[in-house]
Amino acid sequence: MQLASQGKLIIITAPSGSGKTSITRYLINKYPKLAFSISATTRAPRGQEKNGVEYYFLSVEEFKQKIDKKAFIEWEMVYEGKYYGTLKSELERMWIAGQVPMLDIDVQGAVHVQQRFAGDCLSIFIQPPSIEELRRRLEGRGTETKESLETRVNKAAYEMSFSHQFNKTILNDDLDKACRETEEVICSFLGDSLRP
Ligand code: 5GP
Repeated sequence: MQLASQGKLIIITAPSGSGKTSITRYLINKYPKLAFSISATTRAPRGQEKNGVEYYFLSVEEFKQKIDKKAFIEWEMVYEGKYYGTLKSELERMWIAGQVPMLDIDVQGAVHVQQRFAGDCLSIFIQPPSIEELRRRLEGRGTETKESLETRVNKAAYEMSFSHQFNKTILNDDLDKACRETEEVICSFLGDSLRP
């Protein structure tokens, strides 16, 4: 896979509802060098989500064209026939700007990216305290239908069995603590390059 530029990257992965997006946002707000990698997806925008902010919202046809053009570092059908993928162009844009991309992606995608970028990437698995707590969080979020909630909970149990494949596991039983622990791991991985 040829890339115009390549630097380091950070993967934050976890079952849906484990708090990985909150942790990623906390770090991006604190460190200008860290940049959120905006994925492409075929799912519909939720609530206030905007194209080019949370995701690039594509039609299935547009997404498949990008697969054909080999525009993705990785892509997966994550839930209910919806595609999600990390664009090469997104990572290249950040590396050229001297930033470190943070990928908030599902466990399968994370395994692939980790294999591809081995020495240049830090992969962090955010572990929920339990499946019951994960279910409570997803219910509290209010974004899921009964069916999609069950899908996410069932998938979470399977995804938790992959935790040992990543560089570091952080238990999220307290969001502030999990943010600080993730920050420490990233600071030691990036060292001086995290400074503005
Ligand atoms: P949501 O629909 O809740 O925004 O995301 C569903 C799941 O897809 C989350 O676990 C999220 O991290 C994951 N996801 C988001 N972008 C990507 C991506 O580019 N690739 C993969 N493999 N998963 C993604």
